[in-house]
Amino acid sequence: MKVETLIIGAGAAGMMCAAHAGPGVLVVDHAKAAGEKIRISGGGRCNFTNLYASPQNFISQNKHFCKSALGRYTQWDFIALVDQYRIAWHEKTLGQLFCDNSAKDIIAMLRAEMDKAGAQLWLQTAVSEISHDGSAFRATLTREGRSQTVTARNLVVACGGKSIPKMGATGMGYQIATQFGLPVIDPRPGLVPLTFSDEKFKPLAGVATHARVSANDASFDEAILFTHRGLSGPAVLQASSYWHEGEAICVNLNPKGDLLAALQSQRQSDGRKALTTVLAQHLPARLVDHLKAELPLDGNIADQSDAKLTALCDRLADWTLTPAGSEGYRTAEVTLGGVDTDALSSKTMAAKSVPGLYFIGECVDVTGWLGGYNFQWAWSSGWAAGQAIANP
Ligand SMILES: Cc1cc2nc3c(=O)[nH]c(=O)nc-3n(C[C@H](O)[C@H](O)[C@H](O)COP(=O)(O)OP(=O)(O)OC[C@H]3O[C@@H](n4cnc5c(N)ncnc54)[C@H](O)[C@@H]3O)c2cc1C
Repeated sequence: MKVETLIIGAGAAGMMCAAHAGPGVLVVDHAKAAGEKIRISGGGRCNFTNLYASPQNFISQNKHFCKSALGRYTQWDFIALVDQYRIAWHEKTLGQLFCDNSAKDIIAMLRAEMDKAGAQLWLQTAVSEISHDGSAFRATLTREGRSQTVTARNLVVACGGKSIPKMGATGMGYQIATQFGLPVIDPRPGLVPLTFSDEKFKPLAGVATHARVSANDASFDEAILFTHRGLSGPAVLQASSYWHEGEAICVNLNPKGDLLAALQSQRQSDGRKALTTVLAQHLPARLVDHLKAELPLDGNIADQSDAKLTALCDRLADWTLTPAGSEGYRTAEVTLGGVDTDALSSKTMAAKSVPGLYFIGECVDVTGWLGGYNFQWAWSSGWAAGQAIANP
């Protein structure tokens, strides 16, 4: 069988590309349904983009690479598409847009766009061998127990990263890149809970508070959540993408910097209360209890000098913790690293050294923050490749 364009992966990026790549598109996926990650995303409501999406919200060895695609297919373009399909949405927080109803509405929209473009979709199709004979790609596909060879002028690799293998993630995109001589930046889990070897946070499991979490030069002011094995919550997930094994993170439990003034004022009004009782009005009581082992929290608030309170607030603002690891690909929302952007055109996502070969979405070394940015990258990069294929 001969097609113009073969797309491997019917996820966010692959479907978007299929809708824009012109005639003769075949999308193949080994999963039972298209867009499985879209379906489960955002707690079933899909955080499909972010009002404030800009290149600063992406991690890559080349921070400029994502600019072209994000600038040419923006969050406003995707919002316009969603509006065209009358999918109701709302902003939850920090510019994050979610469907009012269900993530399935986004999948149905993308499927409708693919149908409109005449793209074919083969599900439960395994891809084995891929080769290029100088003018076309040949892929061996196995479907319903039968093997067949498909020849395509263009090959678009849209098979995502390694995150959540249970949902069909394989990392095949990296293998295809390597096969064609493209460098791959070591993939690692991102947006992932961090773990601690001594289970020291086990008694705190379920406790949540607001904090500023920093890893390397990045800081995020959002909720943190203690888990049986360590730390999670948006601020920790965000920081995890900047963290490397062996490094420490800093948790600032006084992110607004107003704790000292509050404690000084309570020293006047509630002098006879225990320091821990007063602190528990600002931080979860179980966390205060845990901190007793690390910080001098004895005595009443009236007994605390300005110097002592200042030192305490400084310690709370600089709680340094060294995670033993992360929960890994089992729960990571994304995969950092991927196909080295130096080997790709930022305008078209095409491999510079192999005509007709494209990489889009999560398998590329562009990873967004938590908050709809990763889907925006999938839409923008998928659109960029689709446009380039349709208008050579
Ligand atoms: C639990 C969870 C929640 C998330 N929530 C959000 C959110 O709300 N907002 C946001 O912006 N991002 C979210 N993300 C991240 C987002 O889902 C991904 O960044 C995005 O789906 C990447 O799109 P993609 O098309 O590159 O890859 P994917 O959507 O992963 O699609 C890849 C496709 O390729 C197929 N495939 C893989 N290997 C093969 C193979 N060997 N042969 C054939 N087919 C193959 C897969 O079955 C899959 O259909 C979430 C991720 C997870 C895991």
